[in-house]
Amino acid sequence: MTDSSPHACARNRDVPPVPAGGGAFRAYSRLAPTPSGYLHQGNAVNFILTWMLVRHSGGRLNLRIDDADAGRCRPEYVEDIFRQLEWLGLDWDHGPAGPDDFFARHSQLLRLDRYRLALEKLELRGIIFYCTCTRRQIKNKAGANHLYPGTCRSCQRPPAAAHTTRIMVARQWTFAAASREFELLPGKTPPAAEDIAEPLISVQPAAEMGDFILWRRDELPAYQLASLVDDLDEQINLLVRGRDLLPSSAAQYFLAEQLGPAGQTFLKAKFLHHPLLTDTTGRKLAKSDRALSLAAMRRAGATPGDLYRLTARFLGLAADDIDSPADLLAAAADLPTPGQGRGLPVFTAG
Ligand SMILES: [Zn+2]
Repeated sequence: MTDSSPHACARNRDVPPVPAGGGAFRAYSRLAPTPSGYLHQGNAVNFILTWMLVRHSGGRLNLRIDDADAGRCRPEYVEDIFRQLEWLGLDWDHGPAGPDDFFARHSQLLRLDRYRLALEKLELRGIIFYCTCTRRQIKNKAGANHLYPGTCRSCQRPPAAAHTTRIMVARQWTFAAASREFELLPGKTPPAAEDIAEPLISVQPAAEMGDFILWRRDELPAYQLASLVDDLDEQINLLVRGRDLLPSSAAQYFLAEQLGPAGQTFLKAKFLHHPLLTDTTGRKLAKSDRALSLAAMRRAGATPGDLYRLTARFLGLAADDIDSPADLLAAAADLPTPGQGRGLPVFTAG
């Protein structure tokens, strides 16, 4: 990354380079909201958790707004992201300073050449194909698993007609994570590493997603490709995500492997897939539910402290005295740093 790149920093600190192995692990991570809805408390907990792990390790935090899905992204959602981050009191080291700066210098739509370059690398490997089928045609042919039926796998040249570009996902390829992550459940104290049974979490993208889309019919990169390329360009080495994104991590890991040397930093990254916050009926929080948005919570009288206490409880920490980012950081001082042995709230892939 250089300061002339579109993702250059708005709030530059003295940022150290990524350490080349050895020494303590410094987390290089990102807050990566998609501006397709108002942020909700699940997003807030994910942001606070990510912020905490990065600051705890003396690393670097990027703000990246995933707006490549231009059809669903709206300017008011971009504004909402900045408003809620400011309210929460979270800072970041690289990324847009505000909505105007975002649209002028940081939008993913300004980085299409980077995504295109990655796509071309994959094309050279002969694992890409092109599909002109409509959604309905695919749906009609898909089996009970609703996955892409492989209709156009043999179509190796881009047709003139509108098409999606997909990747052939190796059938048996598995993202296996020897999980050393502890259950981040409310009220539960993180166990020591020796108490963890090391369950193996494994995901097969072929079974979860099939031959997923890299480049869309509307000539924009798909999320899996854009997100991975950004993570590579930003040298991200810690990804903090909800469990619902485990198949995405698996798909991106598969892609990173296909990219060869260019994909290395992602292959060495650490992952934390945390449980999702649910509403009182046990449903996952959705951006479509406006009542649960941070903006609505604020109007109802919630304070940032409420979100910090919620995150503390999520981590099994005593929450009563926590009111700010600094309080949470102090309370988490005894939590292990990611990548440093015992009880890490992180698992590494491979
Ligand atoms: Zn097709």
